[in-house]
Amino acid sequence: MPPVRHSEGATGLDAPVGVLRGVGGDRGAQLERLGIRTIGDLLLHRPRRYEDRRQFVALRDVVDGASVAVRARVVTLGVNRFRSGKSVFVMVVDDGTARLHCRWWNLPFLERVFAVGDDLLVFGRVQSLRPRTMDHPETEKVVSGDEETVHLNRWVPVYPLTEGLAQRPLRSLVWQALQQFGERVAEPRPELGLAGGGLPVPEAAGELSLQGTSEPCPARREALRAVHFPDSPAAAARARRRLALDEFVELQWRLLKRRRHLERHATALPCAGDNRWMRPFLAGVGFPLTGAQTRVLREIRAGLRGPVPMRRLLQGDVGSGKTLVAQCAALMTLEAGFSVAVMAPTEILAGQLADGFRTALAPFGIEVSLVTGSRKPAADAGAGRPMPDGTPSVVVGTQALIQPGFQMERLGLVIIDEQHKFGVAERNRLLRKGRYPHLLVMTATPIPRTLALTVYGDLDVSILDELPPGRRPVRTHVRSREALPKVWEFIRTGLARGRQAYVVYPRVEGGEAVPEEVKAVTRDWEQVRRELAPHAVGMLHGRMSAADKSAVMLEFREGRLGVLLATSVVEVGLDVPNATIMLVENAERFGLAQLHQLRGRIGRGAHESHCILVAGPGATPEGAERLEVVASCPDGFALAEADLRLRGPGELAGRDQSGAPPLRFGDLREDRTLVEFARQRVRAVLEA
Ligand code: ADP
Ligand code: MG
Repeated sequence: MPPVRHSEGATGLDAPVGVLRGVGGDRGAQLERLGIRTIGDLLLHRPRRYEDRRQFVALRDVVDGASVAVRARVVTLGVNRFRSGKSVFVMVVDDGTARLHCRWWNLPFLERVFAVGDDLLVFGRVQSLRPRTMDHPETEKVVSGDEETVHLNRWVPVYPLTEGLAQRPLRSLVWQALQQFGERVAEPRPELGLAGGGLPVPEAAGELSLQGTSEPCPARREALRAVHFPDSPAAAARARRRLALDEFVELQWRLLKRRRHLERHATALPCAGDNRWMRPFLAGVGFPLTGAQTRVLREIRAGLRGPVPMRRLLQGDVGSGKTLVAQCAALMTLEAGFSVAVMAPTEILAGQLADGFRTALAPFGIEVSLVTGSRKPAADAGAGRPMPDGTPSVVVGTQALIQPGFQMERLGLVIIDEQHKFGVAERNRLLRKGRYPHLLVMTATPIPRTLALTVYGDLDVSILDELPPGRRPVRTHVRSREALPKVWEFIRTGLARGRQAYVVYPRVEGGEAVPEEVKAVTRDWEQVRRELAPHAVGMLHGRMSAADKSAVMLEFREGRLGVLLATSVVEVGLDVPNATIMLVENAERFGLAQLHQLRGRIGRGAHESHCILVAGPGATPEGAERLEVVASCPDGFALAEADLRLRGPGELAGRDQSGAPPLRFGDLREDRTLVEFARQRVRAVLEA
């Protein structure tokens, strides 16, 4: 999808940066490397920080450890070269109150960049006071001239750069662009009346309020000026939030439009069923539905009989029983005479799901076929076609389902398991195999509300917030590497008692790029086998062929392998109740939500389960601390929120879920109020 442009054509903001003075071939190429082609791009180039150049700190007064900007003249400079081939360039500057040593390692050419007498702005962290030292500070030469107002005596922006392009010329270009084009910046969606209205202030920790706490919302034109040349940090922050709001508005606009398009143009297939198969099926599963399952099935049934095709996201922690819900949704659809397609991210999962559906549906004579990369349907085998007597069928598969060759007739419901492993484009390609089939996407990765509103903003949400009864929580322990011998002993004891274990390593292969301390499945397999002898250890990772993977899985499920040494491919969906122990090494390399997913592979049977997390030697103290968070928190939702704050939305958001351009100013970690606000306003305007 092309990047969002706020109808800038009419305002000249889509003019190439070449229209600015001083942008020739080289400059143009440099800007291009920063993703800047047009004036609009340049105005949206976000400063990474601001520097207060109204007055400078006197070198005499700087304190150890502080980050400061000083203005001083170069008094001496030179390069020291060491026998090792390394070098350090040292430059001493003086501001009349004291001196500062600036050091750069292995950048000897800097000697030619600076000269004694240069008037410099130096920004960095004070490393020590005797002598006052900064390592690798940022510098900018003061050039006297009429540009003083741009670079001095104000808060100035400091930008991300690229080779050959320094702060000063880039700042001048932005200034020039604002002078020439700033007045032409228009409100992107004037009908929302954002400018002059309220702009929500960031929520206080843990609290969400849409009323009351807001400040006047600047016009986009003002915001663009202030985000580059603010009067104060507060003004910069306000400008940033206005520009973030515009991004969220654009996103919600697209999502809600898509939704309305569906409501206007699609006729929903009547897929709610009549319970004739559901009743005997539920009587046969051997346990009652949880309250949450019952509630969610009611929501799904309402969706399947509604006037608009269902678009529903089902979130449920690992082990909350999503598969059963999916089977019930499929049964409703089948009862109504329509077929069902189920897509899973891996062949292992697809195979497992197909087995489950076969067992569930066999009593009703419904055919379940499996379509994966290695198991293509024969052209005439009829996968996906209703059987001759008109009975609908179920097809379970991997991405192979979205290949052009695959077709389904009377497709009533699309189910996607572990949705976060797919992108929105894949989801839509599967939907296009039918004429507006219903959609149920399932994920065990809990999605914080900000993400649910943005990346999944066009879906209704159902939540399975209850585990089946009798489930004992997995006990999670954080152990040091020194304790590993004891951990192996613990695993051997469990194996001797007939239990099974997972050992999870972050990498598939060793090799030069992978340091010794990072465990790799193929490289360290022998060692694990020795530790756990005489128990049989199998190997599972993403580079194995599908056939090898299923063979190993089968051996593990049938108990012929005591141990599965695996990468995070075991993270999704595997269901082996006798596996009760999991060891994760280099655990700091996994996200919190991912570790929670991983430990969801155990704790599925009657025996108490233990997950042991061991940090690698390369782990930072914070990394090791995060493991304690996982150990003490059994709640996947809380962990996902923590993950979002600690690591950003990358992993949770999955692959390009929104189909929207990346956010430049918006931050899903802190902008929840803006996201909610954008959604409210867009909805109000679209409904009016
Ligand atoms: P997930 O939500 O992680 O996909 P599953 O659907 O794999 O969870 O369910 C986990 C296990 O719980 C399965 O063995 C399933 O048979 C069992 N289960 C599902 N629903 C119930 C229930 N209502 N009562 C007891 N066990 C259940
Ligand atoms: Mg599942």
